[in-house]
Amino acid sequence: MPRKLARPLVLTALLAAGAQAQGLSAVEQRITDEVRAWQPEAINLLERSARINSGTLNLAGVRATGDVFRKELEALGFKTVWIDMPREMNRAGHLVANRSGPQGKVKGKRLLLLGHLDTVFEADAPGPLWERDSATTARGQGVGDMKGGNVVVIAALRALHRAGALDNTSITVVFTGDEEEAGHPREISRRDMIELAKRSDVALSFEGAVTGPDGQAMATVGRRATASFDLDVTGRQGHSQGVFGNAGYGAVYEAARILDGFRQHVVEPGLTFNPGVILGGTDVAYDEANAKGTAAGKTNVIANKVVVRGDLRYLDYAQRDRAQTRMREIVAQSLPGAGASITFRDSYPPMAVTPGNLKLLALYSQASSDAGLGPVGTVPPTARGAGDVQFVAPLIDSLDGLGASGGAAHSPNERVDLTSLERSAIRAALLMYRLTR
Ligand SMILES: [Zn+2]
Repeated sequence: MPRKLARPLVLTALLAAGAQAQGLSAVEQRITDEVRAWQPEAINLLERSARINSGTLNLAGVRATGDVFRKELEALGFKTVWIDMPREMNRAGHLVANRSGPQGKVKGKRLLLLGHLDTVFEADAPGPLWERDSATTARGQGVGDMKGGNVVVIAALRALHRAGALDNTSITVVFTGDEEEAGHPREISRRDMIELAKRSDVALSFEGAVTGPDGQAMATVGRRATASFDLDVTGRQGHSQGVFGNAGYGAVYEAARILDGFRQHVVEPGLTFNPGVILGGTDVAYDEANAKGTAAGKTNVIANKVVVRGDLRYLDYAQRDRAQTRMREIVAQSLPGAGASITFRDSYPPMAVTPGNLKLLALYSQASSDAGLGPVGTVPPTARGAGDVQFVAPLIDSLDGLGASGGAAHSPNERVDLTSLERSAIRAALLMYRLTR
């Protein structure tokens, strides 16, 4: 239905021409004008940062990318510091910037803004660093995930600064250097972010913005936790002819029983678990560090060992606990002549869909509507992978997906919609403005 499609285009054109948006105060209008006026510079900043390869393990590249954004933040009156990681962690560290009004004078919410400097593209990765596809799109390593998001942060803060709206606010920016492959131990690699979250009220994360099927902007109010499980199964080695009798069922039948039990009896909405690798037989070796292994066995011998490694994703801790309890029960119902044990390891905490996060989304959507950019919807928690915001979401109200939109993230065709830099920066700047009044 072309007529339906035509209307938003006309609206967009009107707004791009700088028409006064309804529902904005004079200061807010000034903020949106400042974002629009800076759009060519925003694209320029994105290009400069994208032309530096910053794969997580390219430590010099990550630091150089940090320098680009550090200069921008210092020009806006932020104090910056680079936080190094211990050498053995092989991570570049993080850029932290802060601007805070005098004690007792800070108004509104204290904000924590999250971005990351690294990309999944190491120095030898294929794909361009930066290539202009058209007037409105560019292709390149990390242009959407998430150098575009970092640029949105700068564009929004700059507009607030120009409008005099940063005075007496408390804003902390953390651009991590290892989001794509967080350094171990996490207690160290995420310690500073978590400490800064404790001194903030709201976290805004600028991972890629998702566009809904009708072109509507979509933000993220929840992301599932990631965890893993280790299932180790044992059986009695013996002659295959006795498998259904005194010799026992062995480890392979027991593993099959357990996994099928999980599949049939543990599933609930929002919960997934995936046995990613399985090895079974009489001679099994699994190399944890390299996620590979070997197995040997004979058809006429009952297997005595199975190793299963899998992941587990859940919406909140209550769901995790239900799943783990149920899985342990299933594991315990051993077949004759077999036994098993299961252990769980948490990785990224859940960003649960809380009333606080939904309230943030409502504010964000209202700001977007007031600027004439339409309401903002939400992405289901199951539709996104893990992200840095999850380390702070258990502590403070959080919203993610405020960055640039694009596509094909993590692939050589990663691209960014350059016009989204402006829209996302307007939305973010207005949200920050309203949160800090
Ligand atoms: Zn990312």
